[in-house]
Amino acid sequence: DFITVQELANRMTEKGSDIIKALMKMGVMATINQTIDQDTAELIVEEFGHTIKRVSESDVELELTGPEDKEEDLKSRAPVVTVMGHVDHGKTSILDALRKTDVAAGEAGGITQHIGAYQVQMPGGERITFLDTPGHAAFSAMRSRGAQVTDIVILVVAADDSIMPQTIEAISHAKAAEVPIIVAINKCDKPEANPTKVRQDLLQHEVFVEEMGGDVLDVEVSAKQGTNLDKLEEAILLQAELLDLKANPDRAAEGIVVEAKLDKGRGPVATVLVNRGTLKVGDIFVAGSEWGRVRALVNDKGQQIQSAGPSVPVEILGLNGTPEAGDEVVVVENEARARDVTDFRIRQKKEKQSTMPKASLEAMFSKLAEKEVASVPVLIKADVQGSVEAITGALENLSTEEVTARILHSAVGGISETDVQLAAASEAPILAFNVRASRKAADLAQQEGVEIRYYSVIYDLVDDMKAVMSGMLAPEL
Ligand code: GDP
Repeated sequence: DFITVQELANRMTEKGSDIIKALMKMGVMATINQTIDQDTAELIVEEFGHTIKRVSESDVELELTGPEDKEEDLKSRAPVVTVMGHVDHGKTSILDALRKTDVAAGEAGGITQHIGAYQVQMPGGERITFLDTPGHAAFSAMRSRGAQVTDIVILVVAADDSIMPQTIEAISHAKAAEVPIIVAINKCDKPEANPTKVRQDLLQHEVFVEEMGGDVLDVEVSAKQGTNLDKLEEAILLQAELLDLKANPDRAAEGIVVEAKLDKGRGPVATVLVNRGTLKVGDIFVAGSEWGRVRALVNDKGQQIQSAGPSVPVEILGLNGTPEAGDEVVVVENEARARDVTDFRIRQKKEKQSTMPKASLEAMFSKLAEKEVASVPVLIKADVQGSVEAITGALENLSTEEVTARILHSAVGGISETDVQLAAASEAPILAFNVRASRKAADLAQQEGVEIRYYSVIYDLVDDMKAVMSGMLAPEL
């Protein structure tokens, strides 16, 4: 046993299905979760034109994370929760109110530190980790870098305002990431609050709460008065139980950077959420294309700690440079390996930047041709609601048993950075009808390899999609 197909695919930033195909050609039948031996992995790495660099005798590729954990080593871990929703619906207020429910806060005596995430302990001892950068921009930015830290999304909807454009965006983001939603119907203290309307309006966006016959949990809260926050936390724990979140704490740490900055006094500082293993003071680690030795670990209460296990948010001091949110953190044996891995990652980054857009109709076309996918994900932005409906309706009609159009998000308005982030995270092109992209969104699209196609005739848009889906896209684009 050496590495799973999935991990090998991740390391090489190749599709798992491509690896499986290449393995099949070599006469090796493997599924995505199966492990393959080192010799086979080496052949595959070469086949894909990646360089093999031995770090030690037993190690074939550079930034390999460790092997899969054994079932018996897994222990349950705290769920990681992101709060999303429309502006002013109370995301920040809810995060602040939830933070105050922490029973460990008083006894710790520490000062609340905003490090990008915090953990709350329930009276019963259970813990929940909250990412305290609300909104979907951070969520998708991380996801587009291949990092998914969120287990559960809290969708905040103000009961006096109901579903608004960013609520819909948030739903699209959570769905695209396949992360379960819990609805927090906020501002229920207001006389004009209408929670029933919220539940009904959610139906249109395919969020079915229990009262409407679905299985999405919802809780009526007031962040302002602190009502029902315990119920919200119970719902989170219930959802977490269903997800059966587990990790092996007894191994070298692997995690994700959720926030990073250059601090004047302390140097580069990164907040990390450990996925598995335990991070310790003195560990040598790689974070994206930076590395360091853990000089100190500081928790969300400003206290220095010696180690941090799965789902425990912690600031790391001792980095040689500032990594980026979404970067993968891996503890390695020694400095030499840390340098090798970062060199490799810097090279890899450069290679990636020079490849063709991954989120384009053309890319979708070749994926379909190779039967890697059976659906074409797209984002639709248009000038008026009528156009949005006409386009989504027409695209839905194109779907056949073999190929479906998967509309990740459709809305009125220009193309924003958030749209591009969602598109990048799901490798979906953006189809724009009579709208333009903001300068920042256009730059981001360029950087992330997201194609934005502009149309002024609905027929042309539908025709292009039809061509992609029927396998007859014209070569010239
Ligand atoms: P965000 O933009 O989603 O982070 O929203 P904020 O948390 O900043 O809240 C926006 C506004 O709504 C602020 O003026 C809050 O005081 C107010 N607000 C938040 N939660 C509640 C609530 O439960 N009840 C009432 N009445 N007002 C609230």
